[in-house]
Amino acid sequence: MNEIDYIIVGQGLAGSVLAYQLMEEGKKIVVIDENHPQTSSKIAAGLCNPIVFKRLTKSWMVDSVLPIAVNFYRKQEQLLNNNFYQEMPIYKLFVDEKESTFWKQKSNEPELFDWISDKNEKPFDEQYIAMPYGASKVLQSGFLRTKKWLQAFQEYLIKNNAFVESTFDYADLKMETSAVCWNNFKAKGIIFCEGYKNINNPYFNHLPFKLTKGEVLSVDFENTSLNVVINKGIFVLPYDGTYKLGATYNWDEINENISEKAKDKLLNKAQKFIKDNIIVKKHEAGVRPTVSDRRPLLGVHHQHNNFFIFNGLGTKGVMLAPWLTQKFVRYLLHDEPLPEEVNINRFN
Ligand SMILES: Cc1cc2nc3c(=O)[nH]c(=O)nc-3n(C[C@H](O)[C@H](O)[C@H](O)COP(=O)(O)OP(=O)(O)OC[C@H]3O[C@@H](n4cnc5c(N)ncnc54)[C@H](O)[C@@H]3O)c2cc1C
Repeated sequence: MNEIDYIIVGQGLAGSVLAYQLMEEGKKIVVIDENHPQTSSKIAAGLCNPIVFKRLTKSWMVDSVLPIAVNFYRKQEQLLNNNFYQEMPIYKLFVDEKESTFWKQKSNEPELFDWISDKNEKPFDEQYIAMPYGASKVLQSGFLRTKKWLQAFQEYLIKNNAFVESTFDYADLKMETSAVCWNNFKAKGIIFCEGYKNINNPYFNHLPFKLTKGEVLSVDFENTSLNVVINKGIFVLPYDGTYKLGATYNWDEINENISEKAKDKLLNKAQKFIKDNIIVKKHEAGVRPTVSDRRPLLGVHHQHNNFFIFNGLGTKGVMLAPWLTQKFVRYLLHDEPLPEEVNINRFN
């Protein structure tokens, strides 16, 4: 029997960031993942956008969350000797004069000084990008090459004898008074990070997830070339020689199937501002682990005190995961309370 500290189920963003921080604390862990090709983390655009465009407000906790995230991914780049995180401005194309004026007003609020530019610009070739009302820039944004990082991090786990490729079957979990056993591992606790597949978890599937399917395209343009992100209802993100175009939000059909309807929707929206041929190279779908009150789900099971959950990263998982992990690790190892907004206790 392999005696360890924690079993982690799921090697998406949640499980990976958590695994690394526990290892940093000197804990012995094992991560179990079935290596499903179409997870939320793998198909995500990986954008770190500090702004919520709908209301033009700062993203939740962004002042604390973003520096910790960038620092975490930069450290991973050093550890794994590769590039994962890239800073890149997001240009918001305005839909009308009203939106442009609203942005200008908001950019004068001290809260937003550091996050949005007050200049209305026309930064692209108008032959290819239509921007009759101009555009303005989000500051401090960037993106993580999620799939590339997850692959590299899995290799790191394998080198450290901390990864098992397997579909975790809840029936194989054995409980002892102060330990849990799975296969030949005996651990002090188990942490579930299965993303939306939490629906299969008999211990935590009572939590109020409100899952969101998302579809994203990888495209090329015949003539246009961009080196910044554009957003006008959807985003266009330059991504290692191609572009990601997305994403859709669907709360009614929760599955991983790509649909012509979503593809047409994305292309129609894009053609409203991109005056160029769009060549679709790839089309992917995934399910975001979103929650009814839009806050993550962290904590301990109400009966089994060595069963934990780290989930509900929602639409901004890249930015949130490192900060949340810090809180979770302090809770797990040093008994510090979790922030109330993320503690699953709030649903008791
Ligand atoms: C189209 C789309 C675009 C997105 N864009 C962005 C973006 O730009 N920026 C951003 O921050 N976020 C984005 N997101 C959201 C982001 O992907 C999520 O917040 C985050 O990836 C969730 O990570 P997770 O680890 O909780 O879940 P997941 O990525 O779902 O990972 C769960 C892991 O658990 C494994 N697993 C589950 N059950 C089992 C089992 N029984 N046995 C073994 N393994 C199991 C799975 O294989 C998987 O690897 C996007 C999501 C989608 C769908």
